[in-house]
Amino acid sequence: MTFRNSEQIVSVPLLDLKAQYQTIRNDILPVVEQVLDSQYFILGPEVEKFEHAIADYCGTRFAIGVSSGTDALLASLMAFGIGPGDEVITTPFTFFATVGSILRQGATPVFVDIEKNTFNMDISKLAKTITPKTKAIIPVHLFGQSVDMRPVVDLAKKHAIPVIEDAAQAIGSEYQGTRIGGLGNVGCFSFFPSKNLGGFGDGGVITTNDPAIAELLKQIRNQGSATKYFHDVLGANFRLDALQAAILGVKLKRLDSWTEKRRANAAYYTKRFFETGVAPKYVAPPQVVFERHVFNQYVIRAKNRDSLKNFLQENRVITEIYYPKPMHLQECLGQHRMDFGSFPVSESAASEVLALPIYPELNLDQKEHVVKCIQEFYQR
Ligand SMILES: *Cc1c(COP(=O)(O)O)cnc(C)c1O
Repeated sequence: MTFRNSEQIVSVPLLDLKAQYQTIRNDILPVVEQVLDSQYFILGPEVEKFEHAIADYCGTRFAIGVSSGTDALLASLMAFGIGPGDEVITTPFTFFATVGSILRQGATPVFVDIEKNTFNMDISKLAKTITPKTKAIIPVHLFGQSVDMRPVVDLAKKHAIPVIEDAAQAIGSEYQGTRIGGLGNVGCFSFFPSKNLGGFGDGGVITTNDPAIAELLKQIRNQGSATKYFHDVLGANFRLDALQAAILGVKLKRLDSWTEKRRANAAYYTKRFFETGVAPKYVAPPQVVFERHVFNQYVIRAKNRDSLKNFLQENRVITEIYYPKPMHLQECLGQHRMDFGSFPVSESAASEVLALPIYPELNLDQKEHVVKCIQEFYQR
């Protein structure tokens, strides 16, 4: 069933990268041309320049450009020597890459359920999952909000376990006044096009304050070699392209203004959901516990979630479910799979969550259309 919100037909995609590109095209094309003229495509000066800019932005001493967010996680696990028999603690409510990288190292994922209000790891359950085999903790700053990092870091220090922040969705996010990425031993970021800082293809970066880890990561991303053809450690090809670095460098200058728009859109939705009465009765808007939340996604919990999603789609509002199946239930986990019921908060989130369009270029008509459609769905 569709309804007319107004005379004009409003449609709201989940993300509109073409709209964003139109605003930066004139700045992007010259730097692309520069890289093409230089014919210097792999690592090199553009990548180094971008690494300095990212380290600056995240407030860390070092940044190492890599080929994706997934490879940032994998290279970090390699740098800390994680392998078979080792346990790595993370959350079952995340994008697959967090867990996939643990499995690819032959290590065992150990899950800690999430908090209902933030969808992030429930720190009160962390201590009892630590064993002598625990070799790393990967907190995930899901949807753009920081994990409660102080207790994580304190526990990790006490047990001498490295903390690998999965910061793929949260560039620019802050925890008690500090940017994420420098809170743990390393921070892993993704430049997948739909992330808040998206490249024109795959890319990622690892931030750290530790000079030894930074040096090791530089080797690991480049076939484990510091001097050409001499391979002291096992690495792979995890390099960032100069073209991506040049493009991302241009986009980084706009990131804070885009982030502020995402935050304003989020505040608008939340205010309107309460004003219209859909919250808290039918919809639970996302809760901001740690500023600053950068809203890579604006995720509500919704009654009759699947019907609402269909209704919105019929009314040209595109939404997404992050994530429909928690990690402990995924087929490819094999022997590490756990029964349904093992992590009830993650399991119930999987059946209730819905991500609404939150991208910076949304206009007021589009936001109002989303609000009116949700109001119509519950109150008709
Ligand atoms: C996107 C994402 C990744 C992986 O990043 P890619 O660049 O796509 O490899 C890892 N973890 C989380 C939480 C993500 O959202």
